[in-house]
Amino acid sequence: MTTYKHRSEIPEEEKWNLTDLYATEADWHSDLKKVEVLAQELAGFDGNITDGQSLYEFLKKQEDLSFIFTKVFAYSMFSTDIDTRDSNAQSLKDRATQVSVKVGSATSFFMPFLLTLDEATLKAYINEVKELEYFEEDLWDSFRYKAHVLTKEKEEILSALGEALSSPDRTYGMLNNADIEFGQVTNDDGEKVEMTRGMYSKLIEDEDREKRKEAYKAYYKPYVQLSNTIASTLSSAVKNNVTLSKLRNYDSALSKSLFGDQVPTEVYDNLIATAKKNLEPYHRYTAIRKEILGLDELRQYDLNVSLVSGAKKDISYEEAYDTMLTALAPLGEEYIQTLRDFKEKRYIDVRETPAKRSGAYNMGVYGAHPFVLLNHHDDLDSLFTLAHEMGHAMHSHYSSKHQPQITANYTIFVAEVASTVNEVLLIHHLLEHSKDKEMRKYLLNHFIDQFRGTFFTQVMFADFEKQTHELAEQGEPLNAEAFNAIYEKLFREYNGPDIVFDEEVKYGWSRIPHFYRPFYVYKYSTGFASSIQIAKRILNKEEGALEDYLTFLKSGSSEYPLELLKKAGVDLTTPEPIESALEYLGEIVSEFESL
Ligand SMILES: [Zn+2]
Repeated sequence: MTTYKHRSEIPEEEKWNLTDLYATEADWHSDLKKVEVLAQELAGFDGNITDGQSLYEFLKKQEDLSFIFTKVFAYSMFSTDIDTRDSNAQSLKDRATQVSVKVGSATSFFMPFLLTLDEATLKAYINEVKELEYFEEDLWDSFRYKAHVLTKEKEEILSALGEALSSPDRTYGMLNNADIEFGQVTNDDGEKVEMTRGMYSKLIEDEDREKRKEAYKAYYKPYVQLSNTIASTLSSAVKNNVTLSKLRNYDSALSKSLFGDQVPTEVYDNLIATAKKNLEPYHRYTAIRKEILGLDELRQYDLNVSLVSGAKKDISYEEAYDTMLTALAPLGEEYIQTLRDFKEKRYIDVRETPAKRSGAYNMGVYGAHPFVLLNHHDDLDSLFTLAHEMGHAMHSHYSSKHQPQITANYTIFVAEVASTVNEVLLIHHLLEHSKDKEMRKYLLNHFIDQFRGTFFTQVMFADFEKQTHELAEQGEPLNAEAFNAIYEKLFREYNGPDIVFDEEVKYGWSRIPHFYRPFYVYKYSTGFASSIQIAKRILNKEEGALEDYLTFLKSGSSEYPLELLKKAGVDLTTPEPIESALEYLGEIVSEFESL
């Protein structure tokens, strides 16, 4: 395996070329200055948008600012991420962050202003200036919120209470990140030490069952002890959502959260109902897990240990890239050629070095190109990460190339589709070409575990959010007991009859920060299921499947997410995509079973 101590040891072609953004740091500073000037000019529009022309000038300037600032911020972020100890890079990033706050406050007047207009006035403004056509759809999209805006006095009250309303989230964050103390675990020298979150994620996958159990108990200890406090923060968060949705004239807290993406609540309900009807393959997998691990009783702390240990195959970066290109061949020659170019043009920062930001990401910079950060390890997991991130990068590339700036960025709802499609194609390719039994087991298990994490767990969370909000809407009490009861029931239902319950299981709700961002995690499940259906269509060479998918990749946010997915052949208003994804899981589990 290749390890590097310093960036200077890494060949140029495996490092980003940040001069694609700025040839010199002086150029960066001059752009930052431009952003500051534009921000000041934008603030001057407050109270002075009185006709179509001034509205247009404001929007145009705002877009110009955004174009420059994206580059400015990206450069400072990339420079920091490749070496977080670099104090010069850090100071660039701090400067960029300060300016982003200025920009935010300079333009914060606009949305409230827009929503005070009446429809006829906005229409008249738009008809006045031809160039406003470009912004029209975006304006109407924002204008949809008018039906949910209150009188000026009420809005002022809500805004004054803003900090108090976000206090459950902040309190939980403090407790969960800063104050929490886990129990003790035994380290390799036999000493008792206090467990950290980082240690837990390793220990819960340990092959030694006693170690897993000890870590599990240590992890849940504070959550059990603090469950009444956490129930109070969560119940306040839920009740705030419910109250705000009523005040703002939404049918429910759920409809309020889905309003932005224009997703009907039926899509959410349909996801949960269809998943629940098709839990059988996942339950079967749990039973296989029990058998492979040779346990009399399968417990929660047995769910994360890998079932396949082999497959520690060395794959060089070159080989990984070539394998990916072969696996993605069904996406067509242009897709593949573009990916080849990405590597050559140094859009990927490949290697891990001390103090480089961990993990992996893609960020598309409009007007430049996608930038992918990896910490590549010459193994199979890294190959999957590569295919995943390059899926995001290609989505950025196509959308930037085919959309104007205003619709070039894709939304979170569809973001994970392009990355997961690539993973499915990769796994399909590897399974087709691998005769090695251990390897096949590893691949199948990898996929099933991903299914569990990205699909089932998220649907279960989505179900929990729905039930707790409904209780609050009916005026029922929400306390630790109520949360425990709902969570335990869901956990049993989703994970199947083969699990023996520890007392801790039912406290699972208390460790999930996502519950403070309501009705959000379901997007992981719908995105995952959608990409499986898309990949299946492409692999089965269904007529038009590839063109449909490429159209989707080129569409950015030019339409609402459900419409975009329809273009790719996925209709989330029907049970079909979810059913089809779970059917696929059934096939994978059967194959795993047979091995
Ligand atoms: Zn991703």
